[in-house]
Order: sequence, then structure tokens, then C-alpha cells
Amino acid sequence: MTFITRFAPSPTGPMHLGHAYSAMLAYDISQENDGDFHLRIEDLDQSRAKIHWEEQIYEDLSWLGIKWNKTVLRQSERLDLYFTEMLKKAENFGLFICRCSRSDIASITSAPHGADGLVYPGTCRNGKHTFSTEMRKNPDLLQSNIRMHPMLDKTFFNFQENIFRKSKQAFTFSEFKKSIGDVVLWRRGYAAYHLASVIDDAHQGVTDVIRGEDLFEATKIHVVIQNVLDLPTPKYHHHRLILDEAGHRLAKRSDAQSIKTYRALGYTPEDIRELLGLV
Ligand code: GLU
Repeated sequence: MTFITRFAPSPTGPMHLGHAYSAMLAYDISQENDGDFHLRIEDLDQSRAKIHWEEQIYEDLSWLGIKWNKTVLRQSERLDLYFTEMLKKAENFGLFICRCSRSDIASITSAPHGADGLVYPGTCRNGKHTFSTEMRKNPDLLQSNIRMHPMLDKTFFNFQENIFRKSKQAFTFSEFKKSIGDVVLWRRGYAAYHLASVIDDAHQGVTDVIRGEDLFEATKIHVVIQNVLDLPTPKYHHHRLILDEAGHRLAKRSDAQSIKTYRALGYTPEDIRELLGLV
């Protein structure tokens, strides 16, 4: 299979028009390329992920006419794997345990905002917390926050093969360090989205990631993680976001534009396509 893409929803609320757009667009492109379309349930945040939202996702996608590969990945079932893969490359990642709270970081006024929240000021990045054989035996390791500080001397070219926007993108690793910094890979018992997403894209053989442009900066994190893990970088295509009438992004909390609501109002999947300009 030369073209594989995926839709990776988090089951933390109802699917709305924005999700439907992303899923239908990726599905349509996979069909046009005679490719495969995978589904991945990103249910790492166990405090917010709910089984009823997951079931609703399957129902909504089927109703929209989307057919996915039958091997659905559920991230909550793959935690051990993420942890093991991360530890295998502990040195290359430059892993260190971070004891800072969000407010500790926020209180350091010079910390600018990056794609992963505040750019980490480096407080715990010293000998004491650096990853060591000793640290691997630490029973609290799984419940810690673990950040990466890889040493790469590299420029990343053309990771955006964007079919929606013409520009190709490049960034150097030193720019990455300044604007994004030491990203959290493991957060108290759970893999961070960035780590899990990269490992799963590789596992599912994804050749083309089609997702919203809100993840544009996050893609740089994914490219760096792929580099450390020796995984291939897929082509990334970021599509426009669906906005409400006031020009705001659709919120998951709001039921108003949920697919379920449209269905209840008598809309057909063709109406949804028309609404989203996908005809
Ligand atoms: N679970 C993420 C979300 O719903 C997926 C992002 C991605 O496509 O990588 O925003």
C-alpha cells in the first residue's frame, strides 16, 4: 500500500463539524489515492476519555459513509509499549525527570509560549535528574514527568508536503530548542500525545498525515521525535480549520455543531458534505 492515512480522534466529547471535515477529507484523499484509511482512538487522557464518546465516534463515522481499516488502535492499551520505546532511546532523547509544576514554570517570567505550552526554562535539566541506569530502577519513574532534551545538529527540510498550502517548510534544531524546548514525553503514568502519536503513525504505516493547521507547530515536535526513534517521517498536510459564524474554532464542549445534533435535525451526510464544501 503506497498511501496510508488516518483519523485520530480523542473520545472526550461529541464529534463536531471540524472533526467530520478532517475525517472526510482524509478519507476522500485516501480513496483518490487508492490507499488505506486507519482509525486510532487517542484515549490517553483517562480522566476525559469516555467509552460512550468512542462509541459515538464509530457511529458518526459510519453514518458519514467512512470505512476504516478493521485494526483500530486504542492508545490506552499501548502504554507499556510507549514507555519501553521511549526508554530504549533514553540517551538519544536526553531524557530527564522534571519535578516542576505548571505554576513553577509559569512563575519564571522569561518562559515564552511554544507549541507544547510554555517553553521549559530548564530547571530540572541538570546532572541530578539526568537519566541514568540508576534512574531506570526508580519505582516512581512511571509516575514522573519525563522531558526530552536531545542533542541534534540538523535542519529538517520539507516535512510538509502540503496539498492545501503551497509552501514547504524547514526548521533548524536550534530554532526548535528556542521556540519549543524540552517537550514532555511522559506525564505521570501516561505517554504524552506527541510520543504516542509518532509511535502509532509508524506502527500503522502512515505515509500521509492529514490534520488541522492547529497542529502545525506540533508537527515539528513529531519530526524531532521520529528522528530520535529512527522512524520515517510521513508527509504532513495541514488543512484549514472549520470556524463558527463568529470566526471561532468549534469547541468540543458545545453540542450545537455536533454531528449527532445535525442527524437529529434531519440532515443527511450529503448535507454535511455540502456544508463543509466537500462536494
Ligand atoms: N487526538 C488528536 C486530536 O484530536 C489528534 C491529532 C492528530 O491528528 O495527530 O486533536
